[in-house]
Amino acid sequence: MRTPFVVGNWKLNKSIAEATALVTELKNQLGTVKGVQVGVAPTLVALSSVVKRLEGSSIAVAAQNCHWETSGAWTGEVSPPLLADAGATWVIVGHSERRQFFGDTSEGVGKKAAAVLAAGLGVIVCVGESLAERDGGRTLSVVDEQLMAGLAPIETMDPAKAAKLVIAYEPVWAIGTGRTATPAQAQEVHAYIRQRLASRWNAAVAEAVRIQYGGSVKPSNAETLMSEKDIDGALVGGASLEAADFIAIVKAARSA
Ligand code: PEP
Repeated sequence: MRTPFVVGNWKLNKSIAEATALVTELKNQLGTVKGVQVGVAPTLVALSSVVKRLEGSSIAVAAQNCHWETSGAWTGEVSPPLLADAGATWVIVGHSERRQFFGDTSEGVGKKAAAVLAAGLGVIVCVGESLAERDGGRTLSVVDEQLMAGLAPIETMDPAKAAKLVIAYEPVWAIGTGRTATPAQAQEVHAYIRQRLASRWNAAVAEAVRIQYGGSVKPSNAETLMSEKDIDGALVGGASLEAADFIAIVKAARSA
C-alpha cells in the first residue's frame, strides 16, 4: 500500500508572515494526521521560517526547484545540500512553469532529480503535456520523453528507497485553469507511468513509487481523482493557498 502524498506548491506567493500563519493553521489541524503524508513548498525566502514553525509536526517542507550542482559560481541558484541544510526534505523539479518560462529541459530535470536524491532528499519529478500535445494525440509520448529523460541519471532504484521518488503528472492545460483532467484521463496516464517505471527498474519499484496528480485539484474533485488505483495524492497549486481548501484535500486523500 502506498501512502498518499499531498503537497501544496505555493509558487511565488506568501510573505514570511503569511507563510508562517498558514502553516500554523496546517500544523494545528494536520500536524499529526495519519494515513496521508503532507508537504508544503513555500518560496525560498520563507522556507526556513516555515521549517521552524513546523517543528514537531509530520508536515514536510519542499523546495520548488534547485540546481544540480552542489556549490560554485552559479549566481542565483540553490543546491540540494543547501536546501537540506535549511530543513527541506523534498524538492520539486521539472514543474511545467519552469519548463515553459525558465528553459528547464528534460535532461536538466534528470540531473536535478539525481542531485536531489544524492543529497538524501526526496524528489517530485513533474511531467505533463500541453493542450496542443493532448489534442494531437501525443500525451503518452510527451510524458514518456519527460519521464525517461528525467529518470535517466538515476542509475539504480532500490524498492526500499523508492518512497523518496515521486512523479507528479500535471497536464499543463489543467494547471491554474480550473479545468481538471477527468479521473479516467488521469488514471490512463498514471497507469502508463507506472508501467514505464517497471520497465525502467522493476515491478517492485513501480509499485512503491507514488504518482501524484496535479492540475486544478480542489476539495470538490480531490476524492474522485485520488480514488483511482494509480493516483497516490496530489500536487496542489491555487487551492493550497487557503488552509481550509488544502485541509479538505488532505482529508479527501485519507478517505479516497
Ligand atoms: C501546480 O502548479 O502544480 C498546480 C497543480 O496548480 P493548480 O492546482 O493551481 O492547477
